[in-house]
Amino acid sequence: MNIFEGALQHLKKAARQIDLEDGILAQLEQPQRTIQLNFPIILDNGKVEIIRGYRVQYNNFLGPYKGGLRFHPNVDMDEVKALALWMMIKNALINVPFGGGKGGLEIDPKNLSEKELEKISKGFAKALAPNIGPLIDVPAPDVNTNSKIMDWMVEELNGRENYLASFTGKSIENGGSLGREEATGLGGVIVLEKLIEKLGFKKPLTVAIQGFGNVGSNIAKILDTRGFKVVAVSDVKGGIYNAGREGFNIDLVRECKLEKGLLAGCYCIGSVCDSAKKVDDGIISNEDLLELDVDILIPAAMENVITSKNAKNIKAKIVFEMANGPVSSEADGILNQKGILIVPDVLANSGGVTVSYFEWYQNIYKEKWDLKKVNSKLKEKMEKAFEEVWKISKDKKVDLRTAAYILALQRLNK
Ligand code: NAD
Repeated sequence: MNIFEGALQHLKKAARQIDLEDGILAQLEQPQRTIQLNFPIILDNGKVEIIRGYRVQYNNFLGPYKGGLRFHPNVDMDEVKALALWMMIKNALINVPFGGGKGGLEIDPKNLSEKELEKISKGFAKALAPNIGPLIDVPAPDVNTNSKIMDWMVEELNGRENYLASFTGKSIENGGSLGREEATGLGGVIVLEKLIEKLGFKKPLTVAIQGFGNVGSNIAKILDTRGFKVVAVSDVKGGIYNAGREGFNIDLVRECKLEKGLLAGCYCIGSVCDSAKKVDDGIISNEDLLELDVDILIPAAMENVITSKNAKNIKAKIVFEMANGPVSSEADGILNQKGILIVPDVLANSGGVTVSYFEWYQNIYKEKWDLKKVNSKLKEKMEKAFEEVWKISKDKKVDLRTAAYILALQRLNK
């Protein structure tokens, strides 16, 4: 089953639980508009390269399309359609006035110079310009994109009315919101804290995190400060595991990753090793990390990392989806049968788009909120969404993913 078909399965499963107006599901089963674009750039060596990009404007019943832009060699239309569908569900359930969208470029930014990356980002913004804007479609960062890239893109739209509100996830100096960078991780922790309270789980709880980018490193850091034991972390090249289970000092791990460039390089180097000293500590592969016997497993990298192949080996009590789509729809069934509680991406990682909404709002109304205001509004929204999803799940006796989709569908239907 391809990734978009998998996403549709969840949508249809939830739709069977409620009465939707005639024709609503048929409209939500496909994107309103898909854009595939190609544009040229001149590389540092003087050669011209044609870059292929996508933007899917999935649905705008609730407001302008909203969702990130990903730079990755595996980006394709099916992936972007699935990610855009999930944005539609996420924005509806977290109750921000946005529809769903997503986009990306089929490039590997690691093979590009900073100058080439700037040209490509601006070229993408220029190619997208006729189809985006504060009240039409508002992109944001995603995998391999960040505030610097958003700043370059917004610069391309300079001069248009309210042009700063055309992108979110910008740098603070350029109209970004305080708290946006940590928002996805912090939003996740707010939901996780509520969940363990409901389940009666007591800290310290052990956590393994796959992915150490914006989302993975921020959630690791926040969990570390709130009494969780982060015992394994990884990036694309592999990870480190603290078998002694006292947990890593994430500040030290972050410093080391910055210095060495990869987490596996942080095993027993200087002070990082001192933060988790046990003989059987070591380097761990991404595959093995997923199968660790921990309380909470947090996939925070890419989609489809838990599939029908490895789902039976997952030992965590909770799979907390900070990445989008990390559990395939087949694996979702297997984990549910095993009694593993899955907190779905559309709820777990919705803190990012929530603060993106605050940023868009501040840009439009020319306001500047302090961090306290941003974080307290984020907390309010995340806790409300969690309580609503939890209640639907109990009332209708469905898993949390189905409950999350039901809540979103009810709003879209209305
Ligand atoms: P990022 O580019 O900052 O980091 C990605 C991380 O994943 C890196 O550490 C990378 O090394 C690692 N990685 C990449 N491929 C991997 C693989 N095959 N195995 C293991 N690790 C791998 O991206 P991000 O913004 O942190 O996004 C991570 C996930 O969270 C994505 O699914 C994204 O869609 C989702 N998400 C991001 C945000 C946000 O605000 N950035 C919001 C909601 C959801």
